[in-house]
Amino acid sequence: MTSEAPEEEFSIHWIRDVTEEVLKRNAAVYLISTGKSPSGSIHIGIMREIIIADVIKREILRTGNDARTMFVVDDYDPVRSFPPSVSLNLEDWVGIPYSEVVDEFGCCSSYGAHFANELIETFEAFGVNPEIIWTSKMNETPEMEDAVRICLKHTEVIRDIMIEYVANDFNEEQKEQYIESMKNWYPASVVCPKCGHLQAGAKGAITPNRITSYNPESDLVSFECHACGHSDEATLDKLRVKLVWRVDWPAKWHVLNVTCEPAGKDHSVKGGSYDTGLEVSRRVFDWPGPVKVPYEWVRIGGRDMSTSEGIVFTPRVWLSIAPPELYRYLLLKTDLTRAINIQPERIPDMIDEYERFERVYYGVEEANEIRRELAQLVYPLCLSGDLSPEYIPKLPFKFATVISQLADILGHEATLEKCEQALKKQYGLEKVPQEAKALIEPRLERALYWVREYGSERDRIEITEEVPQDVLSTLTDPDREFLAKVVEILRLEDQDEDSLQSAIFEAARGVGIKDRRAFVVIYRILISRKSGPRLAPFINTLGRGWVADRIASVL
Ligand SMILES: [Zn+2]
Ligand SMILES: [Zn+2]
Repeated sequence: MTSEAPEEEFSIHWIRDVTEEVLKRNAAVYLISTGKSPSGSIHIGIMREIIIADVIKREILRTGNDARTMFVVDDYDPVRSFPPSVSLNLEDWVGIPYSEVVDEFGCCSSYGAHFANELIETFEAFGVNPEIIWTSKMNETPEMEDAVRICLKHTEVIRDIMIEYVANDFNEEQKEQYIESMKNWYPASVVCPKCGHLQAGAKGAITPNRITSYNPESDLVSFECHACGHSDEATLDKLRVKLVWRVDWPAKWHVLNVTCEPAGKDHSVKGGSYDTGLEVSRRVFDWPGPVKVPYEWVRIGGRDMSTSEGIVFTPRVWLSIAPPELYRYLLLKTDLTRAINIQPERIPDMIDEYERFERVYYGVEEANEIRRELAQLVYPLCLSGDLSPEYIPKLPFKFATVISQLADILGHEATLEKCEQALKKQYGLEKVPQEAKALIEPRLERALYWVREYGSERDRIEITEEVPQDVLSTLTDPDREFLAKVVEILRLEDQDEDSLQSAIFEAARGVGIKDRRAFVVIYRILISRKSGPRLAPFINTLGRGWVADRIASVL
């Protein structure tokens, strides 16, 4: 339990810095918002934002102030493209809000609801409980209609802001073109009452159904639909209108009264949509807008994830191989300016690291003063459930990866029994507490799933019903002599692992077989491979009787 794998440095100042910044707003209730467009399966990167918001909330609550979190589902956004996993015909749905696209899986009210729910269903496990806001519903409220009206009345100001921010790094020619194109531009589009489209054309060649004129006195809006050619005029309250992204965001901040919103680097880059939104907040909505908290992305195996390209590692996939607390831990200890790179094949090492950290918190593992203080600060924020007053021993994940693969041979009850024995031995327990027992089965499930999906050849153990013929043909006479002795040893009364291991080697030497060869011979018979987990513990896990019978079957 003292093995010190190299651990990355902690960088947790961001927690205090961000919380202090947010508290300066002196709000009655601090609202921390997050959001995502449900364009397909949402990858785990979004959980960075949602957990940052949750951590800020927990820290504010700790100061005795009131705080809430929100998750805004942008299901009023129109379809631009479908990820490869979706089989709907893009031409049928492009330009239509996600909230009005059919759920091809048949379980939810819409495409948007389906992919949002897939994410939302994991929130409890990750220890977050934001209020869910659906923009398709929010857009129908009088508050949002008022916000749209305010923006339309400020069209000139918004044009100036767009030119200032969007055309900022254009060359002279591009800039002139952009200014020209903005002359009759309005910051909103209309969902066509005839065909339901918000825009025409797919990604790269989109023409939105922009408002073509607005009269502030009569509140009359003109528009043209580029999907079906319909054009009309109506008062704002009779139409379904959506603001352009860079204006929609600050309008939502205004309506929801958002105090703080974290944002990934695509939005939070200097002069990007977040900064544009803050400028719109100041000059149109007459307030400073939320505290901007930029964060770097979460990468998977060194690659950026992308819903549209189908590079998706969802929170649900994470939960199938690792505890949610580990993800919170990785986030908490990493500065917001640094990317987090998840390497799924390293999950067992990361779990070991997190669980050492947990033991430091409970004082059941030695650590220096700095690490103890870190654990006091960070560990409670890692939890998705309640803080246990006492340490709950965890079955080592690496052991779980081995034994979970043997469950078919050992049987369910015997597997659990062996896990309990392992816990007792690891932590010197007389009896395994109920809370610890409850964690065994979920751990076995995760370990098995991890091995199957991400484990290396070395991690995988496959035991055939009978020893394969090609293994038998490799056995020499001295091998057989050696194996006969091993069967005798195994059928003797119990000995500890060290004695068992040395007895096996002595038997090998007795018949002139080298240690290395002895290993190979036994592993081949057990798992048809030249190597495997440490021999004596592995034999004990499989059961000495079972191993003795297996070896005897080849003699
Ligand atoms: Zn569904
Ligand atoms: Zn139309």
